[in-house]
Amino acid sequence: MDRRALVGGNWKMHLDAATAAALGRDIAASAASVAARIDMAIFPPYPYLGAVVEAIQGRIAVGGQDVAAEAEGAFTGQVSASMLRDCGCTTTLVGHSERRHGLGETNQLLARKVRQAIDGRLRVLLCVGETLEDREAGQTREVVLGQLEGSLEGISTDDMAMVDLAYEPIWAIGTGRTAGPAEAQEVHEVLRSAVGVRYDARSAARIRIVYGGSVKPSNVADLMACEDVDGALVGGASLQAGSFIEIARATAGLE
Ligand code: PEP
Repeated sequence: MDRRALVGGNWKMHLDAATAAALGRDIAASAASVAARIDMAIFPPYPYLGAVVEAIQGRIAVGGQDVAAEAEGAFTGQVSASMLRDCGCTTTLVGHSERRHGLGETNQLLARKVRQAIDGRLRVLLCVGETLEDREAGQTREVVLGQLEGSLEGISTDDMAMVDLAYEPIWAIGTGRTAGPAEAQEVHEVLRSAVGVRYDARSAARIRIVYGGSVKPSNVADLMACEDVDGALVGGASLQAGSFIEIARATAGLE
């Protein structure tokens, strides 16, 4: 099965209102030829979603960096799936390592977020990844499989049509260190076959598994050449339209 590649830009807690809108406009201006070949998405900070959605003009997807585990109610500071949809989002990150490890979000909580996103008609880019300690202890496989299983608790085969995965080794995020193509491919293959065992062969063939961790224009081509790498989740290099588009173009085979 041919999988359409996906390149996402995670803006984290960077930029201000003016620079976020300008970055959205710059990306929209160059995205057309690339977005015809691959899916692209950007994940701006919540307060700038409306302005960025307007700037992007539907050329690529805009998503939340997170989503609440509940549909509505007394949850101060949280943003629900329907609120994200109202702002023009069609997708959301769930389980980024800065939330799993930085904020202590558990697999159980993340499974509820995945449920809410799907029920709210948002695609999910579910992130998994091991720490350097896990990797050095030979635990990479166990850790990512545990995250995958736990975060997909209660998610059905039909639901999986709304889910993409991001493998993001924590030691490679924002550090300038990238997993080599062979290291990335090994984990992506593990994840894909786990989806096959948990769901079915069709889900395994269909699910997109993108790589994240210091992806740059200089290393993207080698990563994308891997059979099970279906795109990239980009942090630092997504804050400049030039480097983000260059990564997307290389992923689309336009270089
Ligand atoms: C990320 O935030 O998901 C990420 C991969 O960041 P960076 O590209 O900066 O390592």
